[in-house]
Amino acid sequence: MKYIDEFRDPELARRLLSRIERRSTRLVRLMEFCGGHTHAIMRYGLRTLLPPTVDLRSGPGCPVCVTANADLDRAIALSRVPGLILTTFGDMMRVPGSTESLQEAKAGGADVRMVYSTLDSLKIARENPSRPVVFLGVGFETTAPTVAAAILQAQDEGLANFSVLSLHKLTPPATRAILDAGEVALNGIIGPGHVTTIIGADAWAFLPAEYGVPLAVAGFEPLDIVRAVADLIDMIEDGQPCVTNSYARSVSRQGNPAALEVMARVFSVSAAEWRGLGLLPASGLSIRPELSQYDAAHRFEVDSGPTREHKGCRCGDVLRGTISPPQCPLFGRACTPTRPIGPCMVSAEGACAAYYQFGQNLP
Ligand code: SF4
Repeated sequence: MKYIDEFRDPELARRLLSRIERRSTRLVRLMEFCGGHTHAIMRYGLRTLLPPTVDLRSGPGCPVCVTANADLDRAIALSRVPGLILTTFGDMMRVPGSTESLQEAKAGGADVRMVYSTLDSLKIARENPSRPVVFLGVGFETTAPTVAAAILQAQDEGLANFSVLSLHKLTPPATRAILDAGEVALNGIIGPGHVTTIIGADAWAFLPAEYGVPLAVAGFEPLDIVRAVADLIDMIEDGQPCVTNSYARSVSRQGNPAALEVMARVFSVSAAEWRGLGLLPASGLSIRPELSQYDAAHRFEVDSGPTREHKGCRCGDVLRGTISPPQCPLFGRACTPTRPIGPCMVSAEGACAAYYQFGQNLP
């Protein structure tokens, strides 16, 4: 298949769906790790097309959502450092921290600027040589290479006022943590397409090998996802878990060596705090000590005070897959995209936002 229409072909989808219907003999719970998949599933009404034996749960694959409240508070405190310019992707602006969001900090006088890429942030640093410019690095293996490249670029240019607050996270350890916790029994996982483009399908081999759980890497078109579900059902029914790849137009077994290399030059693997999952060893990326002048955590000491989460928000449960967004009592009532209480309702990849936006497709 070469063209986008082919990945939305209703006839092919019907055939795959009837294969799923035929083969699925028992109730199975599948987690779509990635928030992009949750949005595609809801947008195309895929939940309603699957047989009742297939239960889809959202996972922790929304980088904005899994950013811990304490880290968000730290970023907000950083934005108040006199003279400092904090640059960030748009979604982070509206996430409520303990007392305010970055957007509210900006309204209160902090210089917080929304950027579309790290290149914008470097440009701001060049234009403001006398002011520190910090990029808020939030994302998974997909965005970490571009942030690493920006740090190397700053080093090449001698851009001494640029630094990054690295809150980057790694996806396989989060998957492992969910399976280890055993709170939600998972029979299979729809693997994140963009992340796996970087890390390679082989990075997921531990799931069938150690947990007996199959993973099917998927792209973001409806047929990609339906095919991944069909693969998972086949593997579960046959009792032969492995890793399949229905996103071969982007994902290889080894991943992207150039991206992995640039990440390894700039970052070292460290423990990271995840909303909903807590502190996970070897699940984050810290800037290497030899590049500490580009590490905002090293350059600026800020006191963000005690962190406080909204009592009623159940984002943590949504991110672990123990509940679906509509099971949160605040969903669609006190919490909506215009007045979000938690990050899962703010982010373009948040599960609550997807369920709210495409709620007409709920079963
Ligand atoms: Fe949090 Fe709102 Fe989602 Fe509830 S609906 S879990 S309050 S983001």
